[in-house]
Amino acid sequence: MIIRNVRILGAEPADIRVEGGAIAEIGPGLAGDDTIDGAGAVALPGLVDLHTHLREPGREDAETVQTGTQSAARGGYTAVHAMANTSPVADTAGVVEQVWRLGREFAHCDVHPVGAVTVGLEGRQLAELGAMADSAARVRVFSDDGKCVDDAVLMRRALEYVKAFDGVIAQHAQEPRLTSGAQMNEGVVSGRLGLTGWPAVAEEAIIARDCLLAAHVGSRLHVCHVSTAGSVEIIRWAKSKGWNVTAEVTPHHLLLTDDLVEDSPVGAYNPIYKVNPPLRTHADVEALRAALADGTIDIVATDHAPHPVEDKETEWSAAAMGMVGLETALSVVQEAMVETGLLDWAGVAQRMSVVPARIGRLAGQGQPIEVGAPANITLYDPSVRTKVDPSAFASKSRNTPYEGMTLPGRVVATFLRGRPTVLEGKLV
Ligand SMILES: [Zn+2]
Repeated sequence: MIIRNVRILGAEPADIRVEGGAIAEIGPGLAGDDTIDGAGAVALPGLVDLHTHLREPGREDAETVQTGTQSAARGGYTAVHAMANTSPVADTAGVVEQVWRLGREFAHCDVHPVGAVTVGLEGRQLAELGAMADSAARVRVFSDDGKCVDDAVLMRRALEYVKAFDGVIAQHAQEPRLTSGAQMNEGVVSGRLGLTGWPAVAEEAIIARDCLLAAHVGSRLHVCHVSTAGSVEIIRWAKSKGWNVTAEVTPHHLLLTDDLVEDSPVGAYNPIYKVNPPLRTHADVEALRAALADGTIDIVATDHAPHPVEDKETEWSAAAMGMVGLETALSVVQEAMVETGLLDWAGVAQRMSVVPARIGRLAGQGQPIEVGAPANITLYDPSVRTKVDPSAFASKSRNTPYEGMTLPGRVVATFLRGRPTVLEGKLV
């Protein structure tokens, strides 16, 4: 099969020949009959998400492995890491293997289960990290995401433990006693609205502590969804020391701010904007963009968090926290980072494919589009602008903050080891 007329990382148009799931030849005017017209789209290595909530097992009303990975494929992803806060929690070899098997059977992209750090995400006792690493799921990323491993002794032990198999602890950095009952970012807007604030220091204090712990034991730390300018400064400092710390930012933290809680196109107090960590200030957004551009923040991860309507369309204080993100991630990154001149397509490929695959220690994902590499390819047309229509999502949930917004770009096709999972924007 030949994918014709694509611009690899935005370069001059070329054709890609795919054979046996791998890239066999790249060049202009390749000979052959079995062709797909790339129509001048930008070709990126298949996107890799380090932070996806697939909700299965336990909350199949919100998402399943099947619908979540369909959503991923439509967003241009060829691999996702499935977070551990399912029901039951993915804290044993049995549960991670269950998720891994669901992926093998039903998924439209590769599914890599994340293992919980502590039993039941309760923060009291280390989960069976070694058994999960040795399981068929080959877990390398461990996280209590949704909750913070706030006990410093447990965090130290977890960091020490995963060194044996080159694992990484992905921390949801949030000091729980500083965020008890928090409803939104602590700042001018929360003060005006009288909502309990979520102080930046709750995130920053844990990141600083964890960087020090990771350095102390010589292990790998990954910081989930960095949301404040102060967090960026701490990570920049840790990296300047040569410590093994990586960090992610979500698309929504690159674009949206806390004043949307007070005033937005969908009214005030609309829980569509309720998310953990919360939307922050314009100054934070600027700092996050600059940090993603200069590499202080390594990657974009979606924190795709599907919730059914009844959990979101309720009063602000009772609403669930989180947003779906897989099907809009690339468009939001184009809007926030490419249109602003902060990143080119090679930079996007690094931050949404190459580096997340490296952090997750994935073989066969996040490789450059070159001869011999697996044919994991995303074709993206950055020239169109479209209105976000949640009813077209493959996700089971519709809790997107971008409904009705016009965003740039469209995923035209996604190929997983040469097999199309999306063609002309539609699931195959
Ligand atoms: Zn989280």
